[in-house]
Amino acid sequence: MTKFTCPACENESIPLKHKYAMGYWMTRRCGECDSLIANHAIILGVLSFAYLWNLLFFVGLAQFGESLHYLGYMAVIWIILDIINVKYVPLMVIRGR
Ligand SMILES: [Zn+2]
Repeated sequence: MTKFTCPACENESIPLKHKYAMGYWMTRRCGECDSLIANHAIILGVLSFAYLWNLLFFVGLAQFGESLHYLGYMAVIWIILDIINVKYVPLMVIRGR
């Protein structure tokens, strides 16, 4: 399983499940050094606007266009945003040990 590098101890100790959770503003502890880790807040903040836009835009289209397939587009873009979130948002140390 894919592991991500801890920014505090440089070990590949962050599992994909934790990285995904941190994409939704959660914090996790590194399994090696016990530092408190989160996604980079500013970059994640910008990405959060993309999630919000995605939600409002396609729910709006589904509402006014009266077609539910817009929600399918929303799901596809949501998955793309999740992939960007997991792959490209860097981690930061909130509290080291
Ligand atoms: Zn660590």
